[in-house]
Amino acid sequence: MKLFEKILIANRGEIALRILRACKELNIKTVAVHSTADENCKHVRLADESVCIGPASSKDSYLKMSSILSAAEITGADAIHPGFGFLSENATFAQMVEEHGITFIGPTPQHITMMGDKITAKKTMIELGVPVVPGTEGAVTVDNAIEWANKVGYPVLIKATSGGGGKGMKVATSDDEVVNAVRMAGLEAKANFGNDEVYMERYLRKPRHIEIQVVGDTHGNVANLGERDCSIQRRHQKVWEEAPSPALTNDQRTKLGSIVNQAIKKMGYRGAGTLEFLFEDGEFFFMEMNTRIQVEHPVTEMVTGIDLVKEQIMVAAGHPLSFSQEDIKITGHAIECRINAEDPQTFTPSPGKITSYHTPGGFGIRVDSHVYDGYVVPPHYDSMIAKLIVHGKTREEAMQRVRRSLDEYVIDGISTTIPLHRILVDNPDMRSGDYDIHWLEKFLAKEA
Ligand code: ADP
Repeated sequence: MKLFEKILIANRGEIALRILRACKELNIKTVAVHSTADENCKHVRLADESVCIGPASSKDSYLKMSSILSAAEITGADAIHPGFGFLSENATFAQMVEEHGITFIGPTPQHITMMGDKITAKKTMIELGVPVVPGTEGAVTVDNAIEWANKVGYPVLIKATSGGGGKGMKVATSDDEVVNAVRMAGLEAKANFGNDEVYMERYLRKPRHIEIQVVGDTHGNVANLGERDCSIQRRHQKVWEEAPSPALTNDQRTKLGSIVNQAIKKMGYRGAGTLEFLFEDGEFFFMEMNTRIQVEHPVTEMVTGIDLVKEQIMVAAGHPLSFSQEDIKITGHAIECRINAEDPQTFTPSPGKITSYHTPGGFGIRVDSHVYDGYVVPPHYDSMIAKLIVHGKTREEAMQRVRRSLDEYVIDGISTTIPLHRILVDNPDMRSGDYDIHWLEKFLAKEA
């Protein structure tokens, strides 16, 4: 069966390079689109063609659908890979791409819409037999906030229906706080997502964030590639991810895996996706589904040996999955450290010129990054500049490997979060895998 001739990569930074690498291995030509601030990005230099789609500001470039579609038409691209962030979960964009006779490398616009609305997503999962976080069935307002909060049980978490990146979330512990929390969450949601609708969930006190990687094709085949533990977070942003989770038993893994497989098969899901769960006292609670490739996908690739981006491209072209559930074997342990151009103590962004750059190497090391010696980190975008991913036979070996590769990594000229990871890797709780989603915030508060 045929693959694509030419893929347009509608993204920037490390994920654009990651997609380009998959295309090269599949003998597919690539088109890079970039803002004026990104003409020196590595993937732009390596792509077969590149098109400048606008000024530095994302809304005038990477989020500008008409410019991206024009670039695809002009270059004759037959598919678009959206990466993550930007337009990756924009159903209108997916729809427009397909209306132009171009393949969107991702799920159907219907599935993007369904999972983009978190209330609908939860309802759908309940119908599909997936356990969810107890909470309201619909939207809450300042008028019914107290009534709902008492039904759900304090503490409660107010979340934006169209939320993302932890924005628009507020915790309330009593009737006194809840009305104001709903009002604040609504305002934040409106400002960030243009939609002030919020809902309410029980706020779990010590959960872990466990997510399951899934893939489906257009022939009705589905599989899950196991879990990732992404509990190490700051302000609801993931900092460190690992696979498998140090907290799950094989039984729990298999059981959740089969529930998830059944659900996405019934949905008829196509492409890669992630179901995010909170895990507390042996129970899983669905939070949301991301209908795209995730930042942390490499840890799954390292323990399964499956190239998720190639798989996305193949199923988008109509191929069946290259493996079945029985073929998936989890081997060893993988850890990813997100390296951001930020001050490791204050987390303020640190853009600027990288004056010296040396990546770690050797057995079991993978660095996904678009930066190089002399590269200037622009101030306009997300501060993540690299992902250090290691694989080891055991979790212990992987931890040792993280430590020695952090010691080898040199990034001069700007501040990065490498020193934070250096501290984490030697922490006794991290060493024993004994942490929950609040662990890092508490740790940082103690250190400050
Ligand atoms: P977003 O889409 O904004 O990232 P999520 O629903 O994925 O929002 O939640 C982000 C993070 O917030 C989770 O990884 C978890 O750390 C925390 N969180 C979400 N829901 C709850 C809850 N009910 N109880 C406790 N923490 C939660």
